[in-house]
Amino acid sequence: MSSDTRRVRPIQSGDHTVVIGGGPAGLTAAYLLAKEGHAVTVLEADRKVGGISRTEDYKGYRFDIGGHRFFTKIEPVQRLWEEILGEDFLCVPRLSRIHYRGHFFDYPLRARNALTGLGIWRSMGIVLSYLKAQFRPSPIEDNFEQWVSNRFGKKLYEIFFRTYTEKVWGIPCTEIRSEWAAQRIQNLSLGRAILDATSLNRRSKKIKSLIDEFHYPRLGPGQMWEACRDRIRKLGGEVLMHHEATELVLENGRVTAVKARHDGKDVVITCDHVISSMALRDLIRTCGEQAPVEARTAAEGLRYRDFLVVTLMVDEPHLFPDNWIYVHTPGVKVGRIQNFNNWSRAMVPDKDRTCLGMEYFCFEGDGLWTRDDADLIRLASEEIGRLNLAPADKIRDGCVIRQQRAYPIYDTAYQGHIDEIRRFIDPIDNLHTVGRNGMHKYNNQDHSMLTAMMAVRNMNGGSYDIWSVNTDFEYHEEQRLDETATSSKSASRTR
Ligand SMILES: Cc1cc2nc3c(=O)[nH]c(=O)nc-3n(C[C@H](O)[C@H](O)[C@H](O)COP(=O)(O)OP(=O)(O)OC[C@H]3O[C@@H](n4cnc5c(N)ncnc54)[C@H](O)[C@@H]3O)c2cc1C
Repeated sequence: MSSDTRRVRPIQSGDHTVVIGGGPAGLTAAYLLAKEGHAVTVLEADRKVGGISRTEDYKGYRFDIGGHRFFTKIEPVQRLWEEILGEDFLCVPRLSRIHYRGHFFDYPLRARNALTGLGIWRSMGIVLSYLKAQFRPSPIEDNFEQWVSNRFGKKLYEIFFRTYTEKVWGIPCTEIRSEWAAQRIQNLSLGRAILDATSLNRRSKKIKSLIDEFHYPRLGPGQMWEACRDRIRKLGGEVLMHHEATELVLENGRVTAVKARHDGKDVVITCDHVISSMALRDLIRTCGEQAPVEARTAAEGLRYRDFLVVTLMVDEPHLFPDNWIYVHTPGVKVGRIQNFNNWSRAMVPDKDRTCLGMEYFCFEGDGLWTRDDADLIRLASEEIGRLNLAPADKIRDGCVIRQQRAYPIYDTAYQGHIDEIRRFIDPIDNLHTVGRNGMHKYNNQDHSMLTAMMAVRNMNGGSYDIWSVNTDFEYHEEQRLDETATSSKSASRTR
């Protein structure tokens, strides 16, 4: 299914667009429309803009919902970030490593570093299992385990991929689609590393990390989206907080209004176009019985992984140099640890302290999610001490942030559900779904924003295939989205 078959209602002067969600995708769409002089209203359910890319604060400490790097190869996205934030858009050196049984390994994983760090016997096991995978790969490559094992061998998969991935998703790697691995795992040449290690290939160069630095707003990612909100308002657009979209009103196959809940009351906002970044499952719910039963059943089949961060304020100015650490060490529940001092000093008000973000992946309602905050702070303090990354007796304070629907799950059924949902929504020519949960895609901010940019271009007569983002568009692939929707130069055009 592509946008070739999808008819889009062109935007005209005087039209009003409702944007559901004030995260990166929704605000990008609203900002571009407001810059073109169109009337736009953003409905945001929360008290803050930024969505998963917002910045929370506690007693002057600021922290992300998981560290949010601003990195992109999509030029229009980079330009937009720079335009919105100007000199508060910092360039930050990157260091992130993997913690495994008391040792640190490079991330992105470098095969030579992994082999030398694991000792002779484990490394030999890795090499043998890698060679086995090269000569006798699994003929089927549908799931994450098969995809990774075929490329790196079963042993390396067990040590560096399985534990962490299962922590993140809460399901066995055999139930995760291989697309996710293909999108997220960078090229790692174990073969080249073996040649290096055996000195057979002296000219082989060290694999260079693709990103050794990244951009970051001085006051955290939320600063970007608060600045974007202010620009939209300055241009005459509305950004309504505490407005949760609850119903789409459909007439003759078009959306004519969006109902929202605000302060216990229903408000109805008429519109000519809707751009939705709310979770696809919720979007179908807002259509109620206007959606066919097949689409409703499919929407209920979409699954999400939730997430919580326990921040710890530690009486030590320098704990470790990393921006974040992936925890592959068995026996602890924490998946990743952020050191916000190393993202921007302005995130931490006290120069003698470090603010850490202990990240736990969970399902809403499970044992971790429902633990009370004091208990979670105790767990995080005990685990950071056990990992030897901070002295537990120097932890002075902490707080807990819970994030629903942090990750859309790519299970074996999700693609079928999306296809079914699209049979219902694609023909609605003034409805555009964008963003991460809005399209059930594991998009970072840049790709979430790209889908929003494409939606706006399509309203202006373009024909971008929004659904191809993150399938045809590799994470680090060079991208082009030209300024003019009609330019034939753009690589992201479908025709
Ligand atoms: C742990 C973690 C780490 C990440 N790290 C990075 C990173 O380093 N770099 C990066 O670029 N990206 C990162 N991301 C991804 C990034 O957070 C998302 O790509 C981005 O926030 C998606 O933007 P969005 O607008 O599509 O959706 P969201 O950020 O989910 O925003 C959607 C908005 O819609 C609102 N909403 C939902 N339903 C309704 C409704 N019914 N009515 C009104 N409003 C509604 C929500 O409140 C929210 O504000 C990370 C994500 C996670 C979970």
